[in-house]
Amino acid sequence: MKTLRFKLTASYLLVTLIAFALIGVFANIILEKQFEQYVIKNLNQKNADIVATLENRYTAWGDKWDVPGIENIGMSALGDGLIVRVSTPDQTVLWDAMTHNSGMCAELLQQMAENMESRTGGFNGGYTEKSYPVTVSGTTVGNVTIGYYGPYFYTENDINFLNTLNGLLLLAAAIAAVVSFILGTFMAGRLSGPISRVIKTADQISEGNYRDRVKESTNTREIVELSATINKLAETLGKQEILRKRLTADVAHELRTPLANLQSHLEAMIDGIWEPSAERLKSCHDEALRLSKIVGDLETLARYDGENIVLHKERIHLSELIKKIVISFENEMRSKNINLQCDVAELYPEADKDKLTQVLVNILSNALKYTNEDGRIQITAARDDDKVRISIKDNGIGISQEDLPYIFERFYRADKSRSRATGGSGIGLSIAKSLVEAHGGTLNVTSGYGSGSEFIIVIPI
Ligand code: ADP
Repeated sequence: MKTLRFKLTASYLLVTLIAFALIGVFANIILEKQFEQYVIKNLNQKNADIVATLENRYTAWGDKWDVPGIENIGMSALGDGLIVRVSTPDQTVLWDAMTHNSGMCAELLQQMAENMESRTGGFNGGYTEKSYPVTVSGTTVGNVTIGYYGPYFYTENDINFLNTLNGLLLLAAAIAAVVSFILGTFMAGRLSGPISRVIKTADQISEGNYRDRVKESTNTREIVELSATINKLAETLGKQEILRKRLTADVAHELRTPLANLQSHLEAMIDGIWEPSAERLKSCHDEALRLSKIVGDLETLARYDGENIVLHKERIHLSELIKKIVISFENEMRSKNINLQCDVAELYPEADKDKLTQVLVNILSNALKYTNEDGRIQITAARDDDKVRISIKDNGIGISQEDLPYIFERFYRADKSRSRATGGSGIGLSIAKSLVEAHGGTLNVTSGYGSGSEFIIVIPI
């Protein structure tokens, strides 16, 4: 497996090299084309210059040919790679570079052929001649034939120029490669450094150090997001851990009282201090019932509480669901003579039917439990934007301001002794809240001691 640092540096380097290879190839193609045209133009210009020089000199020599003079011109042209032959209009050769110095001419042609071969492998060239008349005052006084390696040729200087350009390109590529390597290493370091540190912290967190936090200050968005996610994970794990410990403690605490009661009662009867009367046995039986109720509640808690509640959502006919729940409480309501009013709009939210039922049952049963005889309970449900708002309001005993912040916590009961009498164990609301939140909703309460309570469920439609 390759490290991020290696991959990034290698990518930087690769991109630079590819870019320069492409630049090199295209630059050479364009340059070659342009240079070829330039060389051909230059060649024609040189030929024209030779003709013009011969015409001027002819006049200067007194309207006649001067062979040493021609030789001067011819030798200087030879320096430019041009083989000159001057003849009179009747084809008598006055001076010919070939005969003057055949060795030098052959060497020159050979040199040009080599030059061209070295630039363009398999260059298809050879000796070429062009003839021009030498005209003075409208009269042709001679002919000049200029031979060269054609169709065009590069001199030593031209080749050097082209090679220098390519050399410069190579140098630039080498410098760019070094710079991109340094930059790549630097950038990779800036990326992989924070990631490595994030991994280290994540490792610490995975070992149970939930208080550890990633403290990376970087401006790379993904790393900032990664750090935030890991911190959130640590926070959640930390919370879960606290909840787990608290739950264990709470459970132990909840079980202790009925167990202690049961134990002391039984011991007293075994020791003969107490007669095992029906009343005492019933008291023991009640404690056993309470124990089994707590165990039942714990089972419900295990099923519904926590972060990973799986919802099976479906389209629910809300008014019908509420009606069914209300009917299931009919007996209790009748025995307490509670007046229940329902005002539920025709709504069809997408929700988990069983879990929403559980929420409503928990809240409604509380309302019944904590409302005195002849009391009133009011259920309303209405659409609020893209949400459903369900309110369950009672005019019961209410919840004091001290208790209000805690009633959604597990095993919290506002009035322990009274709740015990009503059979509450303090987990109904905590389950209801978890279930509502799993739906992406909220569960809130407004209440005051002695002035009734209103529980408000809001879930997305
Ligand atoms: P319990 O099983 O004890 O009812 P819950 O979690 O359902 O547990 O409720 C927690 C506490 O909140 C209750 O013990 C009670 O003190 C208070 N409470 C809940 N609903 C109401 C209500 N409608 N009126 C008054 N107090 C309430």
